[in-house]
Amino acid sequence: MIDFDVEPEFQKKVDWVEKFAKEEIEPLDSFLSIGRSKDGERISSDGWQAIRVFIDDLKQQVRDQGLWGFHLGPDLGGPGLGQVKLCLLNEKLGRTRMGPTIFGCQAPDTGNMELIAHNGTDEQKEKYLQPLLSGEKHSAYSMTEPHAGEPGEFICSAQRDGDEWVINGEKWFTSNGADADFLIVMAVTAPDKPLLERASMFIIDRDTPGVEIIRNVHTLGTPLRENYKLTGGGHAYIRYDNVRVPRGALLGEEGAGFVGSQTRLSGGRVHHAMRAVGVCSKALDMMCERALSRKAKGELLSNLQMVQQDIADSYIQLKQFRLHVLYTAWLIDKTKAYTREVRMEIASIKISAAKVNHDIIYRAIHLHGALGMSNETPLGEMWMAAPQMGIMDGTTEVHKANLAKLLLRDYDACDDLFPTYHLPKLIAKAQDKFEKVIEEYVA
Ligand SMILES: Cc1cc2nc3c(=O)[nH]c(=O)nc-3n(C[C@H](O)[C@H](O)[C@H](O)COP(=O)(O)OP(=O)(O)OC[C@H]3O[C@@H](n4cnc5c(N)ncnc54)[C@H](O)[C@@H]3O)c2cc1C
Repeated sequence: MIDFDVEPEFQKKVDWVEKFAKEEIEPLDSFLSIGRSKDGERISSDGWQAIRVFIDDLKQQVRDQGLWGFHLGPDLGGPGLGQVKLCLLNEKLGRTRMGPTIFGCQAPDTGNMELIAHNGTDEQKEKYLQPLLSGEKHSAYSMTEPHAGEPGEFICSAQRDGDEWVINGEKWFTSNGADADFLIVMAVTAPDKPLLERASMFIIDRDTPGVEIIRNVHTLGTPLRENYKLTGGGHAYIRYDNVRVPRGALLGEEGAGFVGSQTRLSGGRVHHAMRAVGVCSKALDMMCERALSRKAKGELLSNLQMVQQDIADSYIQLKQFRLHVLYTAWLIDKTKAYTREVRMEIASIKISAAKVNHDIIYRAIHLHGALGMSNETPLGEMWMAAPQMGIMDGTTEVHKANLAKLLLRDYDACDDLFPTYHLPKLIAKAQDKFEKVIEEYVA
């Protein structure tokens, strides 16, 4: 049975999130983007305190709706909605910047919660997972190295010394690394073993001696000087210099780091795709409103066929992408595992997310003319972030290669000179068959 409706009770939740995002979170995003009063004055420390209290109140409203940490199962205090329902909520939050934080489902904490929940010891769950779930602590995931994004190239290592592990190496693009209370670090523990058994994960408190933030790297559009402020968002470049941690810092089995990381990244990729639906639908809304409002040579843009084409192309691309994301979510709910089929769909939507984001945001910017090129619409920020979708959590090319390999497993080579679908071959076969049919009929 295929049904595109959700229960009315859940639809009410989706409607609530949509209204809440529009009326409460979007204005907060706008205010935080400028952080000044109308007369240009910086916000006082009391003013910031008022904003923090306001944010806490929004979080409480989310809790009252039973939606705090809505990605989590009941075992971790969440509502256990399943991936399809997560999609419907995430696409509303994708239209905002602060939404995930206010709903307790912001990356990288979400993936780290999953990692600790699946692999952590009781002690680790109490010390790290509980405060993450309640929003008291924040975390980061430190895997990529400045010279390599691929596991086979990593050199940051952990060596055992008595009851301790000693970690040495450099990581970068550790999102939220400078502000995190703790870091989950991937380090090579057995360089001579096969790739998938080579690395392990460790939980390291951010203030452990030897953890040094070299720079706080920001993405396109942020002034370079921000990289030298060693706090405040960003993707930290971190040196681990003889960092000593106890044995209990090992997260999961020794040597199981790369396998564990795939579980974390797979879930994260689906959530990114869900939010990309929200980003693109916002860009399409902006495109449509502008087309109906702006005239060129006395004609509304919405009456021009090439503008209509861009709108239609964007709608189709978004609709197809959204259905693919929902299908992937449905498949995960059904199989409850990252099977080959699921991994193929996750790779596909990860690849599409980058392309759909790029295409729709580009068209929206183009349709807005100079206004689109200005920094006075949300499109600028969306555009700067669009290429990230093709890089973070594995690049498009790597996902395409994996997808093709997984798909090819369903096929066999043809051992003949000409392929199975070679028309002369098919016709000859059909002629044999129908010769018999005719013979039998005539007889
Ligand atoms: C916004 C953002 C947040 C991030 N957050 C985190 C984080 O929190 N923690 C973390 O550990 N990392 C994080 N990353 C890093 C991210 O995971 C890596 O950037 C990604 O894995 C790619 O690695 P790389 O940057 O070294 O690129 P490279 O691997 O050097 O790739 C460079 C180019 O080579 C191409 N290429 C590579 N391999 C192949 C291939 N086999 N075939 C064809 N082409 C290929 C790529 O597609 C790409 O175009 C983040 C990145 C971004 C942009």
